[in-house]
Amino acid sequence: MDTTSLTGKELAAALNAETKQRAAALAEQGGAPRLVLVVANDDPASGWYVGSLQRAAGRLGIDCDTVDLGADATADAIRAELSKLSADPGVHAVMLQTPLPAGVGLDDVSGAIAAEKDVDGVSPLSLGRLAAGLPGFPPATAEAVVELARRHDIPLAGRHVAVVGRSNVVGKPLAHLLLAENATVTVCHSRTTDLPAVTSAADVVVAAVGRAGLITGDHVREGAVVIDVGTNEGPDGGIVGDVDAASVTGKAAALSPVPGGVGPVTTALLMRHVVQATEAARA
Ligand code: NAP
Repeated sequence: MDTTSLTGKELAAALNAETKQRAAALAEQGGAPRLVLVVANDDPASGWYVGSLQRAAGRLGIDCDTVDLGADATADAIRAELSKLSADPGVHAVMLQTPLPAGVGLDDVSGAIAAEKDVDGVSPLSLGRLAAGLPGFPPATAEAVVELARRHDIPLAGRHVAVVGRSNVVGKPLAHLLLAENATVTVCHSRTTDLPAVTSAADVVVAAVGRAGLITGDHVREGAVVIDVGTNEGPDGGIVGDVDAASVTGKAAALSPVPGGVGPVTTALLMRHVVQATEAARA
């Protein structure tokens, strides 16, 4: 079977074109949208991601500042900064980067981000609103999976989707978004018994684990759709996903590439959220 590549670049370009127009209109009306990235680590991968977000924002006409609190910042200091930015009317969107300092959990601090500025949907309030079907920002990565499927005309309603991974930032919010699309959802994790049997029963498999090559052809039934959220460092220093593309290709009907699948759509949706947050603040 031919395996279609579910690329995200075209969708990201379309989203970005619209975001750029909306950001320009906002800039004319009262100043450009402003995103602040809060960093409390010295992790090179996080630094690379911050740089890529700054470049993406710059291309779209979104002001993007970074507040670096240092890798030994306390939970109190991080909460205080997030509260300050949440109260600042000149800031429309706030994103907290991970990893956080040792001993500080995301749940210890993310609640200090005001829901209307929480453009990556990380706070417990944002996750709760998503679970309850109320308006708010879903985590961009989870939303990117649904938008990628929509763009490639992959139906979700009534279909069985297996999500591998149950983190608060990807797996759980994705399960809620898929339920909202009327999919039948199975959420798998490290304690799932016989993962290949569970995922092989699904029409769509989403891998969001963080382990290179975990999902192989043995985890996927003939003709299934596979969406790879994973980003792992490959043997040559490049980025590889959670899916062993070699063994899935030829068996699956479609597979999203890494890089070039979920990733660019995630960034584009984040920037769209920044514009939406700014529009809402000015409405
Ligand atoms: P995480 O917080 O580490 O969660 C990983 C999840 O995978 C956990 O629920 C864990 O189960 C489960 N898991 C671990 N080993 C497993 C196994 N052998 N079988 C089945 N499930 C297993 O990771 P995350 O933050 O959700 O990120 C997941 C991946 O997505 C990472 O590669 C990350 O880099 C990537 N990501 C990509 C983007 C993007 O834009 N493309 C954005 C965010 C994240 P337990 O709950 O039982 O521990």
